[in-house]
Amino acid sequence: MKSQIVRRSTRPVRIGEVRVGGDAPVVVQSMTNTDTADVTATVHQVQALADAGSELVRVTVNTAEAAAAVPRIRARLDALGCRVPLVGDFHFNGHKLLTQEPACAEALAKYRINPGNLGRGSKRDEQFSTLIDVACRHGKPVRIGVNWGSLDPLLAARMMDENARLAEPLDPDVVMRQAMVASALESAAKAEALGLAGDRIILSCKMSRVQDLIAVYRDLSAQCDYPLHLGLTEAGMGSKGIVASTAALAVLLQEGIGDTIRVSLTPEPGGDRTLEVRVAQEILQALGLRAFTPQVTACPGCGRTTSTVFQELAQAIETYLRTQMPLWRSQYPGVETMQVAVMGCVVNGPGESKHANIGISLPGTGEVPVAPVYVDGEKTVTLKGERIAEEFQAIVEDYVCRRYGADE
Ligand code: SF4
Repeated sequence: MKSQIVRRSTRPVRIGEVRVGGDAPVVVQSMTNTDTADVTATVHQVQALADAGSELVRVTVNTAEAAAAVPRIRARLDALGCRVPLVGDFHFNGHKLLTQEPACAEALAKYRINPGNLGRGSKRDEQFSTLIDVACRHGKPVRIGVNWGSLDPLLAARMMDENARLAEPLDPDVVMRQAMVASALESAAKAEALGLAGDRIILSCKMSRVQDLIAVYRDLSAQCDYPLHLGLTEAGMGSKGIVASTAALAVLLQEGIGDTIRVSLTPEPGGDRTLEVRVAQEILQALGLRAFTPQVTACPGCGRTTSTVFQELAQAIETYLRTQMPLWRSQYPGVETMQVAVMGCVVNGPGESKHANIGISLPGTGEVPVAPVYVDGEKTVTLKGERIAEEFQAIVEDYVCRRYGADE
């Protein structure tokens, strides 16, 4: 079903070939966790993230070695045919690195700067204007990324003092949230005053608690028309990180807020960094905002499914669809919207299968050991025996060729 979400209108920003904001689809981004100075490891991870569907990839640029590595990383990716725009993440010394390594400034498609990590007093203004000047000279957009963990302490103190003088002071948490928004908006106004065009600015105000994030982004979006990058910072590990990110991002996206997202998961030791890309895609697809991969509707199983056959089939089909997508994406346009149902018994199996493009209703415990298959709502064949999984996969493949192939 097509999403009814109405996106809040923002000014589009171009990052390399990628448009963020305006009527562009919500963009998925991710960040590497390799040492950027290690060109080979970083190229490898950027490519993995891009292959998984990340449309922008951010890399830490924290040392002279990392800055010097960026143009080499860009060149290696280009040679591999990987055109994903690279975003540089700068804290504390970005003004120096970008001026000392013009090739880094040029190779990056966008700079992320954090107004809370720019030094103090006059140094802060100096560093900020240097960063903006580099962005203007190289024609690059900038994300002004405020973070709860590194909020500008002077701004926070000023706002707290002002609040304390009120007849009825607000809750300190509310003032801190207001300070996040003020930091982003004041920095954006300064950047524009320094000559950076409004359509080169993206804002973010990342918080680590779901309700705080929602409150801050509602305020931010009501007060500006810059494209917004959404993400729950420090979301955490495993299901906690996935659920918290999804809860926060889904509420905001549903309200039309957010032009690009990142899911900041802590990977398990040795875990796959691309999981954050998959989760981001799944959030957007579940909300009906974008389609990336055919979706498998599978029932949870219950006392009617005492064998693991149906779980295994659901998993096999899901893996098969995901594995095929890099090839199918170009060969079969529209295949990403396909719905496949894998159901465990006759209770909801036939009904759910009829609603999908292709569905299979496996036999529950005590049922006749046959599995009817439905294609576009019609029962076409009944599978049985040991090779149900392979036969069903072949039916899916045939359907994809016929339905989404060039001749259709
Ligand atoms: S479809 Fe059947 S097996 Fe699946 S949850 Fe419903 S009753 Fe249980």
